[in-house]
Amino acid sequence: MDNIYIVANWKMNGDNIFNRDLLSLIERNSIVSDSSHMIVCPPMPYLHQVNNQKSSYMMLGAQDISQYDNGAYTGETSGTMLADLNIEYVIIGHSERRELYNEDNSVIKDKFSKAIENNIKPILCIGETIEHRNSGQTFDYIHAQIDAIISNNKLDNLKDLIIAYEPIWAIGTGQTATPEIAEEVHAYIRNILLNTDSNLAANTPILYGGSVNSENAEKLFRMENINGALIGGASLKADEFSKIYNIAGELTNE
Ligand code: PEP
Repeated sequence: MDNIYIVANWKMNGDNIFNRDLLSLIERNSIVSDSSHMIVCPPMPYLHQVNNQKSSYMMLGAQDISQYDNGAYTGETSGTMLADLNIEYVIIGHSERRELYNEDNSVIKDKFSKAIENNIKPILCIGETIEHRNSGQTFDYIHAQIDAIISNNKLDNLKDLIIAYEPIWAIGTGQTATPEIAEEVHAYIRNILLNTDSNLAANTPILYGGSVNSENAEKLFRMENINGALIGGASLKADEFSKIYNIAGELTNE
């Protein structure tokens, strides 16, 4: 296995002391690997702190980006501001943003453009609800989410794309998709990319997200089209998170 990406989505959790302790415990427990890439995404107010306190092998990501450049958008954070803080990655279209803040594919397309304009690498989240899955709409739904980005961007804009497949029914529920269920969708996503460009298909990491922990990580990472994980709950537990990162490191060395 070539490269595995392990992304920590802290969501709206943490404070100065918690973050400092979490980072230092992760550092103590993790076995650094060149081919296992760790990206930490804290809440906006702590980006600066984490940037100062993280180890150099950890990369920094934001959890969201505004679709606007600047102006009267209270509470928003622009791509220019994130770039100013040297943020390398940004999560776009997390299902919580889609569901709780009504972000549709059109808003997500605009946010994606702002990331690209500011040289921030996008981690695009997609995934179906349980209703889509039960009514056989999973693949159409996923297709529309990816197409909103692919059909509106030239290939050069997609060179740093990371996709995170996160079935909504598996996020924070403890109900992980089986490796086989996840792989089926990952292979489908890879195929959509292949229909656009073979390099895009070969180079785009497709991560799985949804109740990943140190017990289920290895089986997921062994699937052909699963290149890592976006992790919520377990990313707040240093022990668990480091274990998952170390499993990824071992697999890349096999
Ligand atoms: C997420 O936040 O994207 C996520 C997958 O959360 P959890 O790991 O808690 O399911």
